[in-house]
Amino acid sequence: MAKPYTMVPGFYTPAPDRYDRMEYHRCGRSGLKLSSISLGLWNNFGSVNVHENARQMLLTAFDLGVTHYDLANNYGPLPGSAEETLGRILDSDLRRYRDELVLTTKAGYHMWEGPYGDWGSRKYLISSLDQSLKRIKVDYVDIFYHHRPDPNTPLEETMGALADIVRQGKALYVGVSNYNAEQTAKAADILERMGVPLTIHQPRYNMLDRWVEEGKPSLCDVLLERGIGAAVFCPLAQGLLTDRYLNGIPSDSRAASPCVFLNEKAVTEDVLNKVRKLSALAGERGETMAQLALAWVLENPAITSVITGASRPDQIRQNVETLQKHVPLSEEEHKAIRAILTGEDA
Ligand code: NDP
Repeated sequence: MAKPYTMVPGFYTPAPDRYDRMEYHRCGRSGLKLSSISLGLWNNFGSVNVHENARQMLLTAFDLGVTHYDLANNYGPLPGSAEETLGRILDSDLRRYRDELVLTTKAGYHMWEGPYGDWGSRKYLISSLDQSLKRIKVDYVDIFYHHRPDPNTPLEETMGALADIVRQGKALYVGVSNYNAEQTAKAADILERMGVPLTIHQPRYNMLDRWVEEGKPSLCDVLLERGIGAAVFCPLAQGLLTDRYLNGIPSDSRAASPCVFLNEKAVTEDVLNKVRKLSALAGERGETMAQLALAWVLENPAITSVITGASRPDQIRQNVETLQKHVPLSEEEHKAIRAILTGEDA
């Protein structure tokens, strides 16, 4: 029998009850289970950020049963530095728990100069993953994604690279991100012919952006029909679906930061109006706005996990607490939420 790890002062010891509060859902029809709350390292884990805060966030998440950590080659800033931060925290605290972690990375957006550091060629995907493995200091990642569709590379080439990456043991599972329903179905067909399943999709989905539900078939239809899991990004609309902006734009928020993907212009009166009403509904249920927003996404049967971001450990605690607090929404509550989101309640 393995000897239990003894507590050594100054060394991190994970919470012994870390698996008690979290839920784990099977990713599509695969055998892989993901924590329903996951943590993304897109913002606040770069070399420009305070390392100790990044470390505390990761350890807080692990202590609460979060097993799934989402990265991409270009996360930082500087690009690549979020993967280096993870490598550093594995070294200092978590390497002995590597087999308790699902680590993911991606390639598909601009990473380096010249024709081989962007989009979806075999050349880019395979060399980018090799770089990521060195930065994270691991032999393999659990999931490798193609980050966005490439209109100029044959899908067979991109999927062929993913299949080879699995065969080489550099990733255990593969996925796609930002692919629409049709592209996803095609990618799944090609991979199936190669004997490698498309295990997971990573779409953007939240109360303010419901594109995955639209169209016939919708992306959700394709995922459910083919047994592909889904880990959703920006489930809190980068913080808009929280109480963060209800009383102005805090100076330490993402909207006030140099992040180019959310700025003060996104905090519109229309969004605030909706969030105020949703927040009141959440309050009546004894939940925070963030908890209602996360639970709402997780109630969609096509969704395996929400990849949350955070700027401090307390946000992670609150987000994981969703699972203890949430009681499924009634049909009336779903209707009321739909009416708020479409403006039909006015
Ligand atoms: P979220 O929508 O969860 O937004 C996270 C932000 O919301 C935090 O940084 C914080 O903002 C705020 N927040 C989080 N929890 C709380 C809370 N309880 N109370 C108040 N505010 C809260 O996700 P992200 O936009 O960060 O994206 C999550 C992950 O998704 C990324 O890290 C990445 O892994 C993945 N992603 C993938 C993409 C793709 O193309 N595949 C694209 C984008 C993201 P503040 O900083 O202001 O405190």
